[in-house]
Amino acid sequence: MNLQNSGVKNLTKGDSIVYWMRMEDLRTRDNRALAQASEQAREDHVPLIAFFVLSPHDYIAHDRSARRIDFTLRNLRCIRSSLAELHVPLYTTTHTPRTNIPSYVLSLLNEWNATRLYANIEYEVDELRRDIKVCELAREKKVACTFVHDKCIIPPGKVLTKGEKGYTVYSPFLRAWTPHLTPSKGEADPLAYAPSPAANSPSIHNHPVYGKLFDQSVPDEVDGFSLQDTEERDRIRTCWPAGEDAAKEILERFVNTMARSEQMGAVNPLSNGAKVPTKSPTKDSRIGKYKDARDKVDADTTSRLSPYLAAGVISARECIRATMQLSASKAPKVDVSRETGSGRWVQEIAWRDFYTHVVALFPRVSMGRPFQEKLSSIKWEADTAGDHLQAWKDGRTGVPIVDAGMRQALAMGWMHNRVRMVAAMYLVKDLMIDWRLGEKHFMETLIDGDLASNNGGWQWSASTGVDPAPYFRIFNPYTQSQKADPTGDYIRYFVPELANVRGADIHNPPPALADKLGYPRPLVKHDEARQRAIRRYKNPGQE
Ligand code: FAD
Repeated sequence: MNLQNSGVKNLTKGDSIVYWMRMEDLRTRDNRALAQASEQAREDHVPLIAFFVLSPHDYIAHDRSARRIDFTLRNLRCIRSSLAELHVPLYTTTHTPRTNIPSYVLSLLNEWNATRLYANIEYEVDELRRDIKVCELAREKKVACTFVHDKCIIPPGKVLTKGEKGYTVYSPFLRAWTPHLTPSKGEADPLAYAPSPAANSPSIHNHPVYGKLFDQSVPDEVDGFSLQDTEERDRIRTCWPAGEDAAKEILERFVNTMARSEQMGAVNPLSNGAKVPTKSPTKDSRIGKYKDARDKVDADTTSRLSPYLAAGVISARECIRATMQLSASKAPKVDVSRETGSGRWVQEIAWRDFYTHVVALFPRVSMGRPFQEKLSSIKWEADTAGDHLQAWKDGRTGVPIVDAGMRQALAMGWMHNRVRMVAAMYLVKDLMIDWRLGEKHFMETLIDGDLASNNGGWQWSASTGVDPAPYFRIFNPYTQSQKADPTGDYIRYFVPELANVRGADIHNPPPALADKLGYPRPLVKHDEARQRAIRRYKNPGQE
């Protein structure tokens, strides 16, 4: 079913136009569904109403972290006040069970006398099924639904192979994706800014139904998803301030300021960069250095925008537009080259599009199934899985780079990409533990948990996904550590037992030193574990 423009024609005008905000579009700026709803409201001379449904059952089903829910609520509060300045209410409610959400939404539309509903599309299977149900119920009630592509730069279904199929390898996807950035004549510009919503008349505050919607505040927590430890709550909130202005500032820091390499400051992303003006933005800025520095974890080398992109606090379009200012050419053009920092960064944003397209076009990957079906019978380790899995989650595997990464995830709700890859491959190939357990733990711990990118990253590491790491190319975590953390500062920061270890020992402490410092010995020997993984991947289903 085409979710776009599935509404009824020749409507009589209703009393309101409604925008349904979801977990992935928590912003008022450059938000396509909100912009379209607002435009329609202005055309119809009726008020615009925004609402958000908190759905605890969905958060359980999708392994959402309490950090992500807290981040959602904090952002909703910011949006509520931005919209209130425009006299637009943001009505936030909690609803269970999730299967009833479509009829609940229809009851709200009925209460508000709305004849049109707008929302941005969420591409996961459950969410698509929910929206199809909403469309069906809405049709019966003569409510027009408009579901809008907003998450990706280029929407799923637009970048297809010659055989009209979705790409399953990134490089050809990127080659096919790039020309779409420059639209041909008559086509809409995919990077165009969606206008901000217009204000309602202030008289809405006196309306018997709509006026009351302004009284509804955003709850402090969702049952089962609160950050109860106040120290943890403060730390996470300092690391990841809410709001569109905070996201914009982080983007600006990445694009326009130099990295302060002498200070790692890994815990507080806003402390990492005094705003040192750059002489040459293309060379000196963080983005300028991204091409060569991005895999280094002992300095502040990447944007740290993933929580904001995953929650839609900033649009991916906005990120790409920011890179266009750096272009030396007169005609603004997106640089997608591997040879420049900003080109390399745009390529990472293309990975986000790629994995979202994969989820939309090959939905089985988001239903717990490997993309490579032939690998569905791999023999995972069962006897040691419980203890080893827990040690991995706690950052106590005895492999410093893995432990530093896992403790960074616990501390910040975020991990550097390189360490995500190393830690994920270690769980799957060294410990032979089912990748789905790691995928779930990341979703439950990270603040940027995004089904498509997380599943894509895990299936890459497990060699079961689209464009995966070949099964026999298994990271050696010790050599990875030397490359990614050459100073050892990253490990020293997150693994305090090793804070005073200098030199090469930081990457693989000798047993006597580890014992003395109270640091665990490695759970497995890497070379033996590697052989076991190769054996099992070669012959799925066998020991
Ligand atoms: P930057 O390097 O500044 O990149 C900019 C943006 O590009 C990121 O914010 C992100 O939106 C996108 N991006 C970068 N790398 C990737 C990638 N490999 N795949 C998809 N998008 C990418 N990313 C998430 O947003 N949510 C997840 O739940 C998630 N889980 C992952 C799990 C595993 C096992 C792996 C290997 C990777 C995962 N990633 C995930 C991708 C990547 O690690 C993070 O996006 C990145 O570390 C975020 O840091 P940053 O914002 O500084 O990235």
